[in-house]
Amino acid sequence: MRFTPAKPALYGETLDSLTAALAAQSQPAFRAKQILDWLYKKRVATWDEMTNLPRELRAWLAENYDVAPTALVFDRQSTDETDKLLLELGDRSLIETVIIRVPQFGVGLDESRKTICISTQVGCAMGCKFCASGLDGLKRNLSAGEIVHQLIQVCRLEDARTPRARAELASFDNIVVMGMGEPLHNYDAIVRALTIVNAPWGLGFGARRITLSTSGLVPKIRQLATEPLGLRLAISLHGATDAVREQIMPVNKAWPLAELLPAVKEFSDKKGRMVTLEFILIEEINDTFDQAEKLRDIALDLHAHVNLIPYNTVEGLEWKRPSLTRQVKFLDVLADAGVSVTLRREKGHDINAACGQLRLKTEKTREAAGSG
Ligand code: SAH
Ligand code: SF4
Repeated sequence: MRFTPAKPALYGETLDSLTAALAAQSQPAFRAKQILDWLYKKRVATWDEMTNLPRELRAWLAENYDVAPTALVFDRQSTDETDKLLLELGDRSLIETVIIRVPQFGVGLDESRKTICISTQVGCAMGCKFCASGLDGLKRNLSAGEIVHQLIQVCRLEDARTPRARAELASFDNIVVMGMGEPLHNYDAIVRALTIVNAPWGLGFGARRITLSTSGLVPKIRQLATEPLGLRLAISLHGATDAVREQIMPVNKAWPLAELLPAVKEFSDKKGRMVTLEFILIEEINDTFDQAEKLRDIALDLHAHVNLIPYNTVEGLEWKRPSLTRQVKFLDVLADAGVSVTLRREKGHDINAACGQLRLKTEKTREAAGSG
C-alpha cells in the first residue's frame, strides 16, 4: 500500500529545502534556522510555542507541514534495560524504536551505555526466514521525517524520565539503523534522515556513532560509499556460503557472496572503517564448524568485526537457538584466529525485542478486535 500524507513532515526538511520553501513565500533566510532551532534545540511539540515567528508564518507552516508524524502508543521497559517504543503513523501503521541500555560495571542505569535502534520501513520486502519484520512483506517506506521523529520521541521520553536535566541526544552513545525494514531499500529517505540527524542545524549526532545495517543490496552499498556521511556499516551475513545464506536470506539469490563481499571491501577501504558482520546463530542451520571456518576466513579477508547473535525464537518458526556451549565453540574458531568477535547477550527477550515482533503482536490483536 502506498501512503501519501496530507502534508509533508517538517522533520523531513533540511536547512536548504526549508530555506527554499520559505524564500518562495518571501520569507527571509534566517527564518529557516529559527524554525529548525525550535524543532531540534528547544524540541517544541506545537506551532504556537514557536514564539519568535510571526503569527501568519506559523499559520502557513501549520497549513503546509505536519509537525507530529508519529504518536507514542506506549513504551515498555523490560527488566533487562531494554525499552521499546511503539509508534503510530498517520495511516495508523505501527513501527517501533528501541532503547538499549547496557549497564557499566559499578555504575547505575544513568551511566550505562545507551543505544537507540530505529526503523526505516513498515514491514520489509526482503523476507529473511528468521525475521518477524518480513513475515507480512513490505507495507510501505517511512518518510525521512518519520525516521527522524523516532529520535525526537526517544528524547521526549528521556526528558520525562529525567525532569531536572534535559536529555540531549548526545547523551546516547550510538544510533543503530537495525529496526524494522531494509534501510537501503528506502535509500533516499534514510540518507536524508541521517543527514538531518548528523547536521549541526539538526540533531548534531556524530555520524561515526551511527551504524547502518543492511541485508546486502550491493549497488546501494556502493552508492552509500560515495555519500559524504561517515557512517559505520554492518552487514547481515548469517551464512558464510551461498548454499547456507540462500536458505536463510532470499536476497542472496540476487546478490550472492561473490558480489557482496567485494562491495563491502570497497566500502571499508573507501571509508577507512572496519565493517561489522552480523551472524545470527541458528541451531543446525548455520552454526556448524564449517560455517565458523568460512566466516573466519571472510572476516580476516575483509578485516571485519564479527557480531554473533543468538537466534531469538519467532512464533511460527521451527528454528532454535544453539546451546551456550555451541555458541562459544563457534566463537572460539574465530577468536583463536585473531578475529575481532563478540557474542551478543540477548537484550529484551521478555518484551519481544527481536525485530518486528512487538508490532506484529499489536497488529494481530487489532485484527482480532476488528479494528485493524
Ligand atoms: N534490514 C536490515 C536492518 C536490520 S534488521 C538488516 O537486515 O540488516 C535485522 C536485525 O535484527 C538482524 O541483523 C538481527 O540483528 C535482528 N534480528 C531479526 N530477527 C532476529 C531473530 N529472530 N533473532 C535475533 N536477531 C534477530
Ligand atoms: Fe528485512 Fe532485515 Fe528482517 Fe531481513 S533481517 S527481513 S532485511 S528487517
